[in-house]
Amino acid sequence: MEKGRRDITMNLQNYRQPELIKQVLNDLNEFKRAVTFMEVCGSHTMAIGHWGLRKLLPENIRLISGPGCPVCVTPASVIDELIKLKDITIATFGDLIRVPGTEQTLEQARALGANIKTVYSPLDALDLSKKQETVFVGIGFETTIPGIAYTILEAKKQNLTNFSVLPLFKLIPPALDALLTDEEVKINGFILPGHVSVVIGTDAYEFIPKKYGIGGVVTGFEPLDIVLGIKNLVEQIDNPGIVNEYSRIVTAEGNIAAKSIMSDVFEVGNAIWRGLGEIPGSGLDIRSEYAQFDALKRYDITIKNIEGNPACLCSSVLKGKIMPLDCPLFANICTPANPIGPCMVSSEGSCAAYYKYEK
Ligand code: SF4
Repeated sequence: MEKGRRDITMNLQNYRQPELIKQVLNDLNEFKRAVTFMEVCGSHTMAIGHWGLRKLLPENIRLISGPGCPVCVTPASVIDELIKLKDITIATFGDLIRVPGTEQTLEQARALGANIKTVYSPLDALDLSKKQETVFVGIGFETTIPGIAYTILEAKKQNLTNFSVLPLFKLIPPALDALLTDEEVKINGFILPGHVSVVIGTDAYEFIPKKYGIGGVVTGFEPLDIVLGIKNLVEQIDNPGIVNEYSRIVTAEGNIAAKSIMSDVFEVGNAIWRGLGEIPGSGLDIRSEYAQFDALKRYDITIKNIEGNPACLCSSVLKGKIMPLDCPLFANICTPANPIGPCMVSSEGSCAAYYKYEK
């Protein structure tokens, strides 16, 4: 094994030591109040399932999954609008192509002749646009958005005329704010997303304890990270705040350069979230200086709040109102091979995580 890789692996082993994890779990066993914590981010849901942590926690500490899966919170109408863009190349990250629209998935449309390409980076879409008119599907949270902003700046620099972005970006803090105003959602604390927090910093969550009197912890994805995060939430239950348990990569102010490139290219707007509806200030629009790269304007697209198959309970799963196992379609009609809703499609979807690890 090459040296750099060995160092990383050895480093990660520090966060996987069973004795340390057991010690934290023993401490958690001392806590007797019934609490519900939400892991906001789909990568945390996957990590919790992967390491079997849900089953190791005492019964009074319940974890529910939240809206932090970009594909899952994308309304079905987006798929319908993309399918209407005949004769134009649609470049998208892979997960989206299997998400059902109201009638078809992008994968089914591709089988019928639509020009849909999966890409690994927005820069791949930029390259495609040099040969054919291309729309990049701009789905993602604060982690992904700076790279897309950079791609738009690059398109302008290169005077590209065949490239545009469909801005479907979502911002996490306004979504948490909206979630906490829903009286049916009962949460005693948040496990806040690690990757998003690298960009926005922990300061972005300070409104949570101030406005709602509950705490949050930013933590990593290794088992020790996660159990320490939960212990932290338990310890601050009567004196809530925002704690950074992921200080090896997250700071209070976040990544200034990434935040700056985002605000150069985008301005805050509203966004429609599957399950949560339209949330003011939770999206980003392309600034007028870059309007030529805005697919909404270029193709006169309007995103509507349409959720797709009414039998799919993704909307309730995304708000933590039900667990994936509570959906009557889970694992019988709805499976990763035959997903009825986006939460079973995405590699960060709660239903997919429960299917893989907790079925
Ligand atoms: S199991 Fe399938 S149908 Fe049920 S909520 Fe999840 S994605 Fe929707």
